Amino acid sequence: MRRCRRSRRKLKKRWRGRKLGYAAIAAVCFAVAVAAGWTSPALEIDNDVYDFMLRRSAYQDNALRQPESQAVIVAIDEPSLNTLGGMRKIRTILAEGLERIAQAQPRTVAIDVILADPGDPKEDARLADALRANHNLVLPADVAGDRWEEPIAAFRAAAAAIGHVSPQAPGQPSDGVVRRLPLELVVQHKRYWALALQAFRLDRGASFILESPQDLQVGAEVIPAPAGGESRPMLIAYTQSPPPEIPLLKLLRDPAALARIRGKAVFFGITALSAARDRAYTPLGDSISGLEVHGYAFQTLQRAMFRRDASNLANVELCAVIAALAVLAFALFSGWRAYLLGVLVLAGAHAAPFVLFGHGTVFPLVGPAAAAWLTVAAAASYQHFAVRGQLVKSEAATARYRQAMHFVTHEMKTPLTAIQGSSELIGRYNLNDDKRKQMAGMINQESKRLARMIETFLNVERLSEGEMQLKREVFPAALLVASCVERVKPLAESKRIGILVAHTTDCEIDGDRELMEYALYNLLNNAVKYSPPETQVTVEGRCAGDRLRISITDQGIGMDEKELKNIFRKFYRTKRAEQTGEAGTGIGLSIVEQIVAHHAGKIEVNSSPGKGSCFTMVLPAKMNSVRNPGSREEAPVRRPS
Ligand code: ADP
Repeated sequence: MRRCRRSRRKLKKRWRGRKLGYAAIAAVCFAVAVAAGWTSPALEIDNDVYDFMLRRSAYQDNALRQPESQAVIVAIDEPSLNTLGGMRKIRTILAEGLERIAQAQPRTVAIDVILADPGDPKEDARLADALRANHNLVLPADVAGDRWEEPIAAFRAAAAAIGHVSPQAPGQPSDGVVRRLPLELVVQHKRYWALALQAFRLDRGASFILESPQDLQVGAEVIPAPAGGESRPMLIAYTQSPPPEIPLLKLLRDPAALARIRGKAVFFGITALSAARDRAYTPLGDSISGLEVHGYAFQTLQRAMFRRDASNLANVELCAVIAALAVLAFALFSGWRAYLLGVLVLAGAHAAPFVLFGHGTVFPLVGPAAAAWLTVAAAASYQHFAVRGQLVKSEAATARYRQAMHFVTHEMKTPLTAIQGSSELIGRYNLNDDKRKQMAGMINQESKRLARMIETFLNVERLSEGEMQLKREVFPAALLVASCVERVKPLAESKRIGILVAHTTDCEIDGDRELMEYALYNLLNNAVKYSPPETQVTVEGRCAGDRLRISITDQGIGMDEKELKNIFRKFYRTKRAEQTGEAGTGIGLSIVEQIVAHHAGKIEVNSSPGKGSCFTMVLPAKMNSVRNPGSREEAPVRRPS
């Protein structure tokens, strides 16, 4: 039962230590993964993964048959531009196109040709008339350095709204792929909404755009666009069915083409490669003009095909959850179960961004994947080495224990043989009184030795379990020293070792006298045991403040640094000590240390091989006790922390 409790306690202690180890692993791996996720190679990979996910879902969107696109692109393509007079005549071409578009009465018309400078007055007048002929007109503004390029006043007067046509916020790193459209841009404290958003507002008949920190609202439509930066980026839902496109030439010459733009949102601008200055790539790999980007953005709004970028906090949380799961797998399980769970966490971390994308939220892949790989690898290595270390330790302890048991049983045989032999002699022969007395004395002495041996072993167990009670009393330290010196004298004399009591103290100790005697006697006994003949052991007791220091200095075999670190471990003996041929169990010092710790004290050791050692017990001392020496009281023992 006791063994069971002890092993449970040991397990708890070990688990606590490991828990800290695993927590540290999770914290470090999580921090590294989050930092790695924000590096530019990681952002590139995340972009590629996003493009891949979008390509997969673009096919699905197609299969789902979204509502018909309300956006129509009227494109001034290469043939239209060349036939109608080239870029020199662009204002006339625009005017001609707009006059034609007005006949079809679309719901809104958004133009993607910057009209920031006055041109030929006649041409400008015709264009202004054509602009006015169109209902719900959106004119473009663009960022030029640190200012806006806006339509001149004559054109502006005809517009219901102005919208910016920048496919990305200025200063943002770009790989040429337009994934997000900034719905809002602020330059020099002047803000414009995106051209597509303004067209959408007019299409919905809304007179304003309602803003909140997370969304924009147009009529009843809520558009996820967090205001974190300055641009409220909206992920464009590219699909396999882009907005339909009508070349301007066809619109001008084919009366049937007019019907295709009736009641629609018309995006009118240049797509001719020779003139369009704003070409971009979509995540689907297509090269498109800026005009088509706006058409796609309108289509995204109109179909409400919104996906949200996960917030930074959500990213960090996902990494933390993954690191925690990976570490728990190895903290709670071992062997193949832990590895299986580790693989599941890895799979989950890689699958999570894809699953969440399916639910409309875009998470990066690198952060969570790095968190999973780092944590699984670190936790697996930690478990591997911790388990191995534990195994090596317990094997060493078992070997030491076996060795000690072997020694103890061997030692027990000597008194037992003496007891057996003497008792047999008494029973078998008619011995005279003197002989009988001598035999009885020997039996008594040997059985006491046996009892002491057993007591020592039991003390180790009890002390390490914290089950032993201290029988407290206040007694003079000098008496303790004197009685221990007296006990060790016969052994010292047999080795011709002198014992010098250099300094005694009038301090008193408040503690268990028997245990303190055991501790001091052990230190003295070791000093004599591990010293060559004709040397000296010095005992010194000094009081300094509220501390009593009793030191035992010998001129014996000594110990090196490495040995010093181990001498308080149960069953540990130095090679040097074994070579002396002196008998020992390696238990004494572990008991001494526990006794001193139970008295709120400590042991200091200085030693040097071949020169000698000095063991000092440092204990709380009482200078002038008001209590009666010898008064006893019981106090429960606390395990040393
Ligand atoms: P043992 O029964 O072996 O003496 P201890 O626990 O008392 O067990 O001591 C543990 C080990 O510490 C000893 O085996 C010895 O190697 C070393 N040791 C203890 N005291 C001394 C000393 N005074 N000088 C040198 N070595 C010592």
